[in-house]
Amino acid sequence: MSEPTNECLFCRMVAGEIPPDVVRETDRTLAFRDINPQAPTHVLVIPKEHHATLGALVGADPELTAELVAAAHAVAVQEGLVTADVPEPGYRVVANTGPQAGQTVHHVHLHVLGGRGLGWPPG
Ligand code: AMP
Ligand code: ZN
Repeated sequence: MSEPTNECLFCRMVAGEIPPDVVRETDRTLAFRDINPQAPTHVLVIPKEHHATLGALVGADPELTAELVAAAHAVAVQEGLVTADVPEPGYRVVANTGPQAGQTVHHVHLHVLGGRGLGWPPG
């Protein structure tokens, strides 16, 4: 944990001070719709515990890191982007990390994007 929770937007969502549009919740993760969606499905998946970056989370709690990835996949299944057997139509998971990648919220989050063709390379 590297930041007071009352200064972090996503910690305030976890605390219920700002109500997110929740799509999935587990004991340790929360998934909610992005306020500025970049695709028909655009969901953010976060650990409820505050870690600023993916690297901070990996260092502090590898088990929670795995749970976060599993939660992102579960959201994609729930949103109809893949099934257990077939990876179609498909989805993308993004973790913007640091200024050059454009990270704006410093509580680690995975973007789950899908529902349209996604260009590569990304911008
Ligand atoms: P990043 O730029 O990777 O740090 O992503 C932060 C994401 O948080 C952006 O896609 C924003 O649109 C999203 N975001 C910011 N404020 C909110 C909010 N109140 N509810 C949901 N998503 C938000
Ligand atoms: Zn936080």
